[in-house]
Amino acid sequence: MSSRDSKDRFAEARERMLKWDLTGRGITDPGVLKVMMEIRREEFVPAAYQSQAYSDSPLPVGMGQTISQPYIVALMTQELRLNNFCEVLEIGTGSGYQTAILSKLAKKVYTIERFAQLSESAQAVLGRLGIGNVEFYIGDGSCGWPQQRYFERIIITAAVPKMPQPLVEQLAEGGVIVGPVGSSGVQELLVCEKKKGKLTEKVACDCRFVKLLGKYGFDEAED
Ligand code: SAH
Repeated sequence: MSSRDSKDRFAEARERMLKWDLTGRGITDPGVLKVMMEIRREEFVPAAYQSQAYSDSPLPVGMGQTISQPYIVALMTQELRLNNFCEVLEIGTGSGYQTAILSKLAKKVYTIERFAQLSESAQAVLGRLGIGNVEFYIGDGSCGWPQQRYFERIIITAAVPKMPQPLVEQLAEGGVIVGPVGSSGVQELLVCEKKKGKLTEKVACDCRFVKLLGKYGFDEAED
């Protein structure tokens, strides 16, 4: 499908998303709104769900995982307060949709996914879109980026029982970490800032994400 065809096909749905699901629900950051209109969610949604590409709900992307709903992607991005000097660590690449949004507002994105199949498919889509400022890693993101480094921003796109300690350690002083913290069934979207080595905490909303599995996430068997 050429990009012109898909623009024609989804332009109205994208406008509706902007009006009802984003600005209508309190997304005000002009940079975030612009990028949400620029990056086409249909590119990240499997063929079977194309017609629902702009419904404000999560959709399956394979391996039992989901692409987050547009409102939550926009909210998390807005809460990160990105600028083009920021290096961002993302845990849970999934479809790569959130990664693509981040890549347009930050200097560089480092993203970790535990399923090779999802990471490879996200790499293919971002490559096709000409996005070059992203580094991908396949492994347990709850342990942080494999090389020791600091990030100005960290986003966790799967539920964690608490903020994983290795991620708190890799957050730069003055940096912001956003992620859903709670039980495997329901979480609070926390926005935390690192001040003098300690995290301040704000709750943005209640939410429901798939589990982050791994050493500092949930056990596979845990409910
Ligand atoms: N941001 C994604 C949605 C991700 S869903 C999007 O826009 O499509 C959460 C993702 O986290 C899933 O792909 C899941 O496989 C991944 N995940 C779960 N545990 C993980 C871990 N320990 N390390 C890295 N990725 C993990």
